[in-house]
Amino acid sequence: MSSVIAYIGLGSNLAEPLNQLAKAITELAALPKTTLLGQSPFYRSTPVGPQDQPDFVNGAVSLRTGLTALELLDHLQAIEQRQGRERTRVWGPRTLDLDLLLFGRKVIESPRLIVPHTELPNRDFVLQPLLDLDAELTLPDGRKVANLRAQCPDNALQRLEPGQSSGR
Ligand code: AMP
Repeated sequence: MSSVIAYIGLGSNLAEPLNQLAKAITELAALPKTTLLGQSPFYRSTPVGPQDQPDFVNGAVSLRTGLTALELLDHLQAIEQRQGRERTRVWGPRTLDLDLLLFGRKVIESPRLIVPHTELPNRDFVLQPLLDLDAELTLPDGRKVANLRAQCPDNALQRLEPGQSSGR
């Protein structure tokens, strides 16, 4: 079975975000043809877009998977749905957001799926957890995640220590 390392970004700002992320990681680890390789620390970040919503908790995981990228996206969306995600407004609050950040060295531009994720280079709450998982990580175009993180606008990212509440 051929397999790749995929990186998934997780975010939540409703309904006990830390529990939402923990539950999602349990589900990701149980996906078919898939092994959980690593889990980043969680971070509290201020929302992108509308500010009249709670702070987010963000993190990332690395998986080794034999699923195709679209199969993996289907699973991510099913997990989001099971955890009651409602899409009320663009960039609004959500119980769970799962993004396929990287899928091996693949570049994908299809109607349903863009990889690397479009916002990856611009968001510290995505770049920092990726760096925690692999300090040497590079994008398919050769850019280093560490360099992108250094250039990225700061979003008041705050690392949550194990056992610390998200403040929600
Ligand atoms: P969002 O509201 O950020 O969760 O965006 C969900 C939409 O983005 C879905 O319609 C997906 O098909 C699409 N999408 C495109 N690329 C990706 C990706 N890399 N990861 C997750 N969703 C993606």
